[in-house]
Amino acid sequence: LDFKNLGLHENLIKCLKDLKYLKPTKIQRMVIPKLLSLNIKRTRTNPFPPQPRDIFMQAQTGSGKTMAFTLPILNMLLSSNGKINRQSGIFALILTPTRELAQQIYTFIEDNLCKKSCNWIVPGIVIGGEKKKSEKARLRKGINILVATPGRLVDHIENTQSLDLSKIRYLILDEGDRLIELGFEDSISKIINKLQKDYKDNDSLGPLLDVLPPRRVNILCSATLKGN
Ligand code: AMP
Repeated sequence: LDFKNLGLHENLIKCLKDLKYLKPTKIQRMVIPKLLSLNIKRTRTNPFPPQPRDIFMQAQTGSGKTMAFTLPILNMLLSSNGKINRQSGIFALILTPTRELAQQIYTFIEDNLCKKSCNWIVPGIVIGGEKKKSEKARLRKGINILVATPGRLVDHIENTQSLDLSKIRYLILDEGDRLIELGFEDSISKIINKLQKDYKDNDSLGPLLDVLPPRRVNILCSATLKGN
């Protein structure tokens, strides 16, 4: 089985080939087709497509979990055929327990995937440690995939009036065990409350209606938690 069989967009297949990723890892084989099947729309001929649901990914660092969730997200944005730009909104939010991990994921998405396969899709990062003003400016300019640490994002939710989280259709909690160990439970609750409060139904999405999953998909990654 190679990446082509998983149903990914040709730009991503080419990009993976250039990066010399030849075969999907086990977790990628399990998760990518599942996530790709979640934005199939209800139609007269297919009235009951699979509905978005929570996905628990038990995966160690090194298993390829980052690409398991980023490839389907980019695939969704790519299948809008260029109708998306940085001002279209934030569609995916990736929360990580540390700045270093956020930086690593952001750099991977930006340098290895977006630049090579879809340079109009804009990832962004909000982790503190630098001037809040420049983060604010970046959020205002527009981001499609946001990588953040929970504390700093809550700070922006409380202080950046214009922060619009209404279009987020993928929420990833990366290293969920460590997010809890490090005491981010309250911040994550605040973020999820904000997502629920801001959520706008699909009629507000215009041309994006056909590519986004109809409801938010929550993905919990962890090396140790038992899923239930
Ligand atoms: P992660 O589990 O997301 O921390 O990924 C660990 C490492 O595996 C990263 O350095 C990736 O570049 C690499 N990797 C991810 N998927 C693949 C793949 N399908 N083939 C080879 N290397 C991969």
